[in-house]
Amino acid sequence: MKSYEALRREGITGLAAPARIGGQGGDLLTQCIAIEELSRVCATTGLTLMTCWSFADSLIAFGRDEHLAAAEEVARGSALGSWCYTEPQGGSDLSGARTRASRHGSQWRLDGTKRFITNAGWSDWYLVLARTEGDSFGVFLVNRHDKGITFGKPESKMGMRGSPTCDVYLEECLIPEWRALGDPAKGLEIASASLVESRCHVAVQALGIAQGALDEAVSYTKERNQFGRPIANFQLVRGMIADLTVKVESSRALLYQAAGMVHMDRERARAFSSMAKLLCSDTAMAVTTDAVQLHGGYGYMEGSPVERMMRDAKITQIYEGTNQVQRLIIAKHMLGGSSRA
Ligand SMILES: Cc1cc2nc3c(=O)[nH]c(=O)nc-3n(C[C@H](O)[C@H](O)[C@H](O)COP(=O)(O)OP(=O)(O)OC[C@H]3O[C@@H](n4cnc5c(N)ncnc54)[C@H](O)[C@@H]3O)c2cc1C
Repeated sequence: MKSYEALRREGITGLAAPARIGGQGGDLLTQCIAIEELSRVCATTGLTLMTCWSFADSLIAFGRDEHLAAAEEVARGSALGSWCYTEPQGGSDLSGARTRASRHGSQWRLDGTKRFITNAGWSDWYLVLARTEGDSFGVFLVNRHDKGITFGKPESKMGMRGSPTCDVYLEECLIPEWRALGDPAKGLEIASASLVESRCHVAVQALGIAQGALDEAVSYTKERNQFGRPIANFQLVRGMIADLTVKVESSRALLYQAAGMVHMDRERARAFSSMAKLLCSDTAMAVTTDAVQLHGGYGYMEGSPVERMMRDAKITQIYEGTNQVQRLIIAKHMLGGSSRA
């Protein structure tokens, strides 16, 4: 939270929001540059920020004035937000969600459990995907002080340890009617639109981790001596550094293409954000693993930056849709048929 306060002080929390709600109107590419620079040194700070931005983006795209007030709080940095899709029985198949939203007089009543929610407990606002009628879903805005919302204990994780991940429990949670975001029968469309941008955020977070690990590998190999000379002089080491650099730069090129497409070619943006997420997260895993290798035994020690980066990198292949799910989306773009994702 201390690092988030620094972002608030610097005015970075409002970078992604339009000027009409007090933000700086940064487009997706600008957001990506900010998240990359943060994740290069601290991926969990990047995660806290991009989770808030993804929450606020959906309110800005689909919300009315009442909803925009919550987005404005996030832009100011006075509130945090979370997006709640995943449930205990599954995260890949969003249409299998069991959390239910039913009408209760002039209110909505929510019942269900959301799993692995980033910023849960810290966030003031939660966007919840819930089944309304039959196969329809809505998205609902819930405040941490609403009656009927509680939080599980923070999960103990392999990486991203500076970011809380908790269950969100909704039990007879009553919220006013206006808290339904957009059409309560079109929740999957809202979720799907949000994922196009948030997958670019995950991609650039992964890219930042990869760049940070590459930076560490370059400086360590120049400083560390073996056989009477810096290990950076050995051809096998130089070849590894060259390969890692190509991986990082080619991932960045695809990501920038995807980020531009989100504004210019919405049709193809979904597949390109999946491609960027897939490539950048695989790059992050490969680069951090090799960065540990180049640090020798010191890289394997707890507290070494590259050890943390390798643990942080893994989740980028899993969340916001696993890389298998991204392949289904890309294949559907190329071949047609159903991705069911
Ligand atoms: C640290 C962390 C933070 C998270 N933050 C959030 C958050 O803020 N909000 C949120 O809603 N969720 C969040 N999640 C949840 C995350 O998005 C899910 O874990 C992810 O989507 C996978 O869902 P699952 O864990 O249920 O795995 P499953 O869906 O059970 O998948 C298990 C395995 O089966 C594979 N698989 C599933 N379906 C197919 C298929 N059709 N074809 C091929 N392979 C398939 C998957 O790729 C995976 O390898 C977070 C998770 C973690 C660990």
